[in-house]
Amino acid sequence: MTNEFRNLPAVDKILSDERIRSLEGTYPHELIVDLSREQSEQERRRIAGGKKPHTAQEIAAAVLAEVQALETPNLRPVINATGVILHTNLGRAPLSPGAIAAMDRVCRGYSNLEFDLESGKRGSRDSHIETLVCRLTGAEAAIVVNNNAAAVLLGLSGLAKRKEVIVSRGQAVEIGGGFRIPDVMRQSGAKLIEVGTTNCTYPADYEQAITERTAALLRVHSSNFKVVGFTNEVTIEELAALGEAKNVPVFDDLGSGCFLDTTKYGLAYEPMVSQSIACGAALAFFSGDKLVGGPQAGIIAGKKEYIDKLRKHPLVRAMRIDKIRLAGLAATLLHYLKGEAESKVPVWRMIASPIADIESRANRWADALGKRAEVVSGESMVGGGSLPGGTLPTRLVAIGRQDAALAQRLSRQLRHQEVPVIGRIEQETLLLDPRSVLPEEDDIILQLLRNLQ
Ligand SMILES: *Cc1c(COP(=O)(O)O)cnc(C)c1O
Repeated sequence: MTNEFRNLPAVDKILSDERIRSLEGTYPHELIVDLSREQSEQERRRIAGGKKPHTAQEIAAAVLAEVQALETPNLRPVINATGVILHTNLGRAPLSPGAIAAMDRVCRGYSNLEFDLESGKRGSRDSHIETLVCRLTGAEAAIVVNNNAAAVLLGLSGLAKRKEVIVSRGQAVEIGGGFRIPDVMRQSGAKLIEVGTTNCTYPADYEQAITERTAALLRVHSSNFKVVGFTNEVTIEELAALGEAKNVPVFDDLGSGCFLDTTKYGLAYEPMVSQSIACGAALAFFSGDKLVGGPQAGIIAGKKEYIDKLRKHPLVRAMRIDKIRLAGLAATLLHYLKGEAESKVPVWRMIASPIADIESRANRWADALGKRAEVVSGESMVGGGSLPGGTLPTRLVAIGRQDAALAQRLSRQLRHQEVPVIGRIEQETLLLDPRSVLPEEDDIILQLLRNLQ
């Protein structure tokens, strides 16, 4: 044993440190002892690795830092100034006050989640949402699961296992985050039959592939990329007509699931759920937290005979949604039914935000920053696997024009605030977009920008 090891402070010595002793009472003794042991053990390894020993005070400080880290939640709010409205890495859709209130109410105590208040008997989880989905989409029935990836897997497992599903070659895509149509298909036990080519697929391509083994024709919305140039996609109307003629159900994985007409906001047309249902799709699959603007969920809307089959599938139990999100989703859907989504659902408020409002917010932000900032024209993105290539004109606060080191430093500083602010760096300039920031967050951001070094 070297001299250094003899110098290693005993756990008792760490525990007798004034600051560590003051933790007693707030934290269980065992936890403090455990953390002290861990730090002592780490110190032993440091010394064995030939590093300079820490003092007992330094080790006590490390224990304190560990305790502080425990108290700081890892998952916490950030301000999204990237200009990407549905940012998957930043948690997708912020919720409306109505949805938040509904979630708050239902999680404080018990609820009639699976209890029929009328009969006093067991009820169904889906009953709280099915009517709303059906009213909004025109579907006969609906089921809600954990997310849209689960919804698609359930649909294929429940209705196409050991059978064939025909997909256009241009739609056998990867959505991101590990969701790839060929892999999901394999997992479900269905056989993927690819037809057409990467850029062009026609109704006849599907028609020629239909056999007695065909379980469905599947359309997948290419939500995160765009094929340009010489292309042909079979429309959902054409596909539904073919399915009808050949007596094969059509499944539509819409991804985002849109209830409002995006062209009204200068965006490309995003397929709407009601349109798929109206033209005869047997099932439509979509997310709760993309353009719907609610909590994470996967919704399947469609014909009753298929939904009823899916309801009985064992996977439903493994994919079920919890009461809190169910309450939030119902409240979000209600905004659409009441015709108030544009003013109540944050995602749509952001999309619909007038450029003049964004500009005046950008000016206020830039003023808070002083000379280092200027307001420039730019583009916001909807993101989250919807409207590929679709952008909205915006005003950006540009900080440290073309000074890469400054942009990196400020961006880092913003990320390390108590409420981290996430911007984007383009052409060595840090850009902040007010469009994706909730107006009620402006006060926080203004104060923070004023103090930026
Ligand atoms: C986003 C997306 C999914 C996955 O939905 P999650 O809700 O993220 O699980 C599936 N299909 C398409 C076409 C998508 O865009």
